[in-house]
Amino acid sequence: MNVPASPSDEQRAQRIRRGNLREVARQAASLHQHLPDAFRRDVASGRYSRRQWAQASLFATIGTLLAMLVPGFSSAMQAPQHAPLTTMSLSLPPLARARQAAVPGDSWQTVTVASGQTLGAIFEQLDIPAATMHRLLDAPGAKAALTRLKPGAQIGFDLPLLSDGRTAPLRALRYDRGDTQRVELSLVGDTVAEKVIERPVEIRSTVISGEVGRSLFHSARRLGLSGSNINTLTDEIFKYDIDFNSDVIRSDRFSVVVDQVWREGELIRTGPVQVATFTAKGKLHTGFRYERGGKAEYFTAEGRPLKKSFIRMPIQYARLSSKFGSRRHPVLGTMRMHNGVDYAASTGTPIMAAGDAQVQFMGWKGGYGRTVILDHGRGHTTLYAHMSSFANIRQGQRVSQGTTIGRVGSTGLATGPHLHYEFRVNGVHRNPLQHTMPEPEPLKGADLAAFRAQTGPALARIRTVENLIYAQVDGDGDDTRVAATTRPAKGAGRG
Ligand SMILES: [Zn+2]
Repeated sequence: MNVPASPSDEQRAQRIRRGNLREVARQAASLHQHLPDAFRRDVASGRYSRRQWAQASLFATIGTLLAMLVPGFSSAMQAPQHAPLTTMSLSLPPLARARQAAVPGDSWQTVTVASGQTLGAIFEQLDIPAATMHRLLDAPGAKAALTRLKPGAQIGFDLPLLSDGRTAPLRALRYDRGDTQRVELSLVGDTVAEKVIERPVEIRSTVISGEVGRSLFHSARRLGLSGSNINTLTDEIFKYDIDFNSDVIRSDRFSVVVDQVWREGELIRTGPVQVATFTAKGKLHTGFRYERGGKAEYFTAEGRPLKKSFIRMPIQYARLSSKFGSRRHPVLGTMRMHNGVDYAASTGTPIMAAGDAQVQFMGWKGGYGRTVILDHGRGHTTLYAHMSSFANIRQGQRVSQGTTIGRVGSTGLATGPHLHYEFRVNGVHRNPLQHTMPEPEPLKGADLAAFRAQTGPALARIRTVENLIYAQVDGDGDDTRVAATTRPAKGAGRG
């Protein structure tokens, strides 16, 4: 916690303030948009409560505020970090400008590593001689830790300010080793002394529950889910059952169990989604994480995998250019059976493994050109031809569904860049667009028993939390949920 205050704190504060500003603008815009509808309805029914009038004036106020903010908005967004924002008429926390001003005795400066920034560049920026940097790097373990800095990592520099405003030579440097240790290297005469400060972490299994609101991403982020957690919800767990572009409305609820790593009162990391529930159109969807054979997957409450065994198209953003069946061969000119389907796409478009598999063949295969064959088990194989290049895979290697295995090209007998894709069951070619794909293997035996033992208590925890949160919200009256009660029009049209 004793990381010293520094310009980076101010940068963060500015970032947060800009975010707030953007949010206010967005909310104002959306309230504005819903206003006429809400009013028409109430005027028609003859009810026009005091609350509505109060809201009307609130909308007006926000509208005015927005008008005030907008002119300076885009330029403020692009302003360099150190330029003060001038359009701050909201009651936001004041800028901590005093922190940036040089105060004698305030000796620690924290630098947040920018993308592509080297340690040498940081030292140069702070006017610290390269010789000092090399002395520090000679300390055991320092080189490995400091030369492989990730963007966002923080380094503390003890640079005492002298009373005449100049900076004294570097006294010490701090960096974090893993989540639990902070290393301090002090320059004492010709030697470098290392001190390790232990920083205990605590792992908490947490239920995070909320309503979708304006956007699932926004609400979930605000509640503490990571971007990767949210991707897991939308692209892995619920993608087969919920269309997040059209099925979801503001009042839909989600609850997620995750492990959070806390240190000194600060959330530093959120683990993978353990359990997730989502209520869309009044229907409850659930997904549970379970490691089968060392590999994590998501399952239904009954232990069936949520993931389909095959994706329909092993390529994104492509056009079906030739169907399965008898046709005249475009190069040979004769009538021939087309044993697969063709997808036209530009050279270099990634080709994905249609399902979990083992690489059975990769290499040149006559008219097929550069080809990959995947063995999915249970007699199922897929073939991908005319590739311009292979991805970084080896024969015999296991690949997961969606892994890039190569790129579109026109090698072999091909008139233009396309993917020729074949699907075989026990050696017989099948139309991948019509064939009923096999169900993925459900959990069985010991796995199923272990899975069952986890799911019950997890669901019970979610239910307890939901009862707590939503019982309160529902009893609170709806004055605080003005935006939430106004549903987007498209929510009603679907059935
Ligand atoms: Zn073809």
